[in-house]
Amino acid sequence: MLTRREFFRESAAVALGLSGCTWRFWEATPSLVNDIHSQLNPTRVARVVRAESPEGLQGLVRSARAEGNGLSIAGGRHAMGGQQFGTDTILVDMTGMRRVLRFDAGRGEIEVEAGIQWPELIDYLVQEQRGRARQWGIAQKQTGADRLSVGGALAANIHGRGLRLKPFIADVESFVLVDAAGTPRTCDRRQNAELFRLAIGGYGLFGIIASVTLRLGLRRRLERVVEVIPVEDLMPAFEKRMADGFLFGDFQYSTDVASDDFLRRGVFSCYRPVDENTPIPEGQKEFSKEDWDRLLYLSHADKKRAFEEYSAYYLSTSGQVYWSDTHQLSVYIDDYHQGLDRRLGAPGRATEMITEIYVPRNALARFLEDVRQDFRQNRVNLIYGTIRLIERDDESFLAWAREPYACVIFNLDVVHSPQGLERSGQAFRRLIDLAIRYGGSYYLTYHRFATRKQLETCYPQFAEFLRLKRKHDPEERFQSDWYRHYKAMFADVL
Ligand SMILES: Cc1cc2nc3c(=O)[nH]c(=O)nc-3n(C[C@H](O)[C@H](O)[C@H](O)COP(=O)(O)OP(=O)(O)OC[C@H]3O[C@@H](n4cnc5c(N)ncnc54)[C@H](O)[C@@H]3O)c2cc1C
Repeated sequence: MLTRREFFRESAAVALGLSGCTWRFWEATPSLVNDIHSQLNPTRVARVVRAESPEGLQGLVRSARAEGNGLSIAGGRHAMGGQQFGTDTILVDMTGMRRVLRFDAGRGEIEVEAGIQWPELIDYLVQEQRGRARQWGIAQKQTGADRLSVGGALAANIHGRGLRLKPFIADVESFVLVDAAGTPRTCDRRQNAELFRLAIGGYGLFGIIASVTLRLGLRRRLERVVEVIPVEDLMPAFEKRMADGFLFGDFQYSTDVASDDFLRRGVFSCYRPVDENTPIPEGQKEFSKEDWDRLLYLSHADKKRAFEEYSAYYLSTSGQVYWSDTHQLSVYIDDYHQGLDRRLGAPGRATEMITEIYVPRNALARFLEDVRQDFRQNRVNLIYGTIRLIERDDESFLAWAREPYACVIFNLDVVHSPQGLERSGQAFRRLIDLAIRYGGSYYLTYHRFATRKQLETCYPQFAEFLRLKRKHDPEERFQSDWYRHYKAMFADVL
């Protein structure tokens, strides 16, 4: 990653069109790359190489080894802590490896190249099984964006809005990893089991995932049921929904800081299986791209109206029927903030940055009261946020779901100035401290503002994780600025 001074210089150059190389892929010359959502990770890489085949990946690792080059690995480029980029490394762009390799409709498994993104994978399954009585679909994907890769999902050990689901590791049967020697290794719960536990949630530091075999779930028709409820009723409401057989759900809370509803009231939408013959009518109500655009504007300019419009829309869709896989897709507008900045007359650039905080479920309402006070006191600009559930992950090494948590997502507006970044960093650190107060934790994929103390409290195994990285990759072939940051932070114990 660039130094702070370089960052502002490069950002200005990009804004003025001077750099001109931000998204030129597959070049032999240095490129400036950045993440999609926050755009706070501009990184100069030595070159970008587009992976095309497993053999190509092996050759790439071997030649990087022979020439002493570091490799970083990118899928959809949505991580926000610099995990997918390493300054002066060769960036392996996985978007060219997107084939479906094998679909086993008997076992409900699919093997895909790791660069495939969710819309293509879902579309393949829908088309391939059209007209079949029993159909398979993905179990879960991220919410809020779709063009994320399966390799990126595995490397972060992601989750969606399942009510009783564990993180993504539970959906992975096996994967093929090209290791630091350039050797392909099949990793599952029996073969190379240590690598299986480390690479899932290991942020690309153990090798390049070439392909993944996923466990699918049966495609079901689901009815959406929507209510607007206070946060103190949320946990009992989730319990009731689960007892009634609902499979998915989340709670989108009010961000209207001036209102008594702020972080106290939200739209509770859950999905329950219905009879397999229930029709999914054409022309069900659906937000268009323009609607989402307007909502994004309101979420910055008029939060009260944003919540009113969002609630009214969601309530009006209660009773609609969806497929269990395609209902997880959502609209994401690339670069939406540039237009917003213009429309809002913002004095400088800004984007949103996300954080996800985990708290024991019985502490949720108290935690949110603390956040409410903190955000009001410190004038934190909260744009949107959701609450979901997660089950405990007892498999991955760097497990973030240490217990069945409530997961609270906060999308904060971050102004791209030294003061703006400092203020946001402080807000993210205070949120982690509030979570720790209740025995909670936070997600590593979104930023790297946490202090060492916070990291060690939430991930006591982190130093060991870094040691195991060196055990499997002694020459540190697989690099990222995220890794370099933590290696420096933990230098005294490594
Ligand atoms: C708007 C938005 C919404 C999101 N919603 C959710 C959500 O609902 N739930 C959730 O859990 N997360 C969510 N995320 C976080 C996101 O899922 C993770 O950051 C994920 O890793 C991004 O995947 P990607 O394909 O964009 O990967 P990248 O950002 O390109 O890479 C992420 C990590 O994966 C590694 N990687 C990618 N491909 C490979 C490969 N083939 N082999 C080895 N390593 C690889 C990279 O090196 C890097 O460490 C969201 C992020 C955004 C910006």
